[in-house]
Amino acid sequence: MTKDRRWVPSCATCESDRRCRRTDDVCAVSRSACQMDALAVYEDPQVLEMARVAAQVEATGYERWDRATETIEFAHRMGYGRVGLAFCLRLSDEASAYHRRLEREGFDVVSAMCKAGAVPKESILGLREDEKIRPGLPEAMCNPIAQARLLADAEVDLNIVMGLCVGHDTLFLQHSRGPVTVLIAKDRVFDHKPVEGLRREADAAE
Ligand code: SF4
Repeated sequence: MTKDRRWVPSCATCESDRRCRRTDDVCAVSRSACQMDALAVYEDPQVLEMARVAAQVEATGYERWDRATETIEFAHRMGYGRVGLAFCLRLSDEASAYHRRLEREGFDVVSAMCKAGAVPKESILGLREDEKIRPGLPEAMCNPIAQARLLADAEVDLNIVMGLCVGHDTLFLQHSRGPVTVLIAKDRVFDHKPVEGLRREADAAE
């Protein structure tokens, strides 16, 4: 379906030197952002608390705390007791280490791996052998909806995504219950640092 493009924001190609960051709201996008009902949502005390804590964590550990530490600080300051890890098989070691670190920090930790359910790719997904990563071998499908449900049933206060694939993360985000944060974005080429690939593109375009 063709979408209306008469007026859509395009901050990524900003021609105003991104002046909004200095509380200068001269541009149409900023004015629109203030006029719509987005600001009214912050009147919800829970939303306001999360937004305030996020800003405080950002400022307190600015360029000193890595993301894993920021996540822990955020969870502490939000008063979360139980946290859930939705992790990828390929990041099992990292998930295991973070699980233990969270426990040392006093959290009750729940974790669910992407292959939970052990469902063959050829069953529900109907994949052919040549559509598998290693044709001829048994391969379980990634099951982000089960991950989301397992963590929701465990009543986690915060869902933490660790390296789910593109699309699988989308399903997890769609089907999870409660707050979600992404600790690791899967990128098999750039060691899970997708920004590296984008920086190369940006450098090449200069
Ligand atoms: S809100 Fe306006 S000033 Fe800020 S990045 Fe977007 S276009 Fe640029």
